[in-house]
Amino acid sequence: FFEESQLLKGLPSQFFATLVQKVNQKIAAGNDVINLGQGNPDQPTFDYIVKALQKEAAKPQNHKYSQFRGMHSLKQAAADFYQKHYQVKLDPEKEIAILGGSKIGLVELPWALMNTGENLLLPDPGYPDYLSGVALGKVNYSTFPLKKENNFLPDYAEIPAADAQKAKFIYLNYPNNPTGAVVNREFWAETVAFAQKYQLGVVSDFAYGALGFEGYKNPSFLQAPGAKEVGVEFYTFSKTFNMAGWRIAFAAGNASMIEAINLIQDHLFVSVFPAIQAAGVTALTAADEEKEVARLVAIYEERRNAFIKAAAQIGWKAFVPGGTFYAWMPVPEGYTSESFADICLEKANVAVAPGRGFGARGDGYVRIGLLVSPARLIEAVERIGKLNLFEK
Ligand code: PLP
Repeated sequence: FFEESQLLKGLPSQFFATLVQKVNQKIAAGNDVINLGQGNPDQPTFDYIVKALQKEAAKPQNHKYSQFRGMHSLKQAAADFYQKHYQVKLDPEKEIAILGGSKIGLVELPWALMNTGENLLLPDPGYPDYLSGVALGKVNYSTFPLKKENNFLPDYAEIPAADAQKAKFIYLNYPNNPTGAVVNREFWAETVAFAQKYQLGVVSDFAYGALGFEGYKNPSFLQAPGAKEVGVEFYTFSKTFNMAGWRIAFAAGNASMIEAINLIQDHLFVSVFPAIQAAGVTALTAADEEKEVARLVAIYEERRNAFIKAAAQIGWKAFVPGGTFYAWMPVPEGYTSESFADICLEKANVAVAPGRGFGARGDGYVRIGLLVSPARLIEAVERIGKLNLFEK
């Protein structure tokens, strides 16, 4: 009866929707499906944060509308967190914006900071929601490849000057979804130099910032000299503290970009539930914070190691992820990412995410979510191994 707007018609199709449907059908039919297709953390929110929420939720002052643009105490805690972990100084009121999840900010950004028809530079493969921002902001984009031979980092020298010149912003995401690639501080310095050369802004999606293996501390983009002049970083509570369902995140960095992000928020959204913001302060500042995050990283690292070892035994060669909770795995000869995902589901009862859903360059890969126990990961690989698709 009512028709959706032209704007909504421009949204990208939800590539994974059919996969989720197929997986659910299989489970409903009584199959023991090992679901490695999702990106939803399986661990509970750390106990000290749940306890803080219980206390905060009982306080009547937290039942009212939040302060517009979020509580000062949370912005201060976010600034202190960046100071402690990354030695980055941020003005809590001017350089931090509170968000109901980083997805909101990443999708709103083109709308907030670009005009119709202006251009973005996006990674391929990349997090699919960046394209929702393209559609809602009515902007154009070109992609730059993340190639295996370059450890899934962009090669700035290879991005065509014409693409860089017309782009207003570049989106980067390290540790990377879907590839698991991580970067070092020099990479962020090169990024700032690239942004300065072409006068473009940087959007760093640091969703997996806390998740680095073998003791690796992922650097923040904001640590690079000059970063605050050219960009912002999005930091979410979803992965660091297993708070994906709580919907809380912040953006940090360039004051004029933060102001534009806040301005859009003013018109759409008062702010996150005050009790969640107050629990967010505890999440960032409690004495247990580092210990709990380290425990979580150890869980993912154990799974990564179990999965990679099992995969090697069936001849499935991995790019070893340096962070995140994903493994980006090549598909066997003769398969597309979708046909391989289909056979894994149909014949092995293992769900994996087809790389094509992350961009054209994802087609030779599937993404494995390391979100089940090591034993289940090993079982998943053994089931796939029985299909005899890889040469040992
Ligand atoms: N960015 C990346 C790369 C992600 O993988 C995700 C979630 O999966 C997000 C952003 C969104 O996180 P949030 O829960 O803060 O909206």
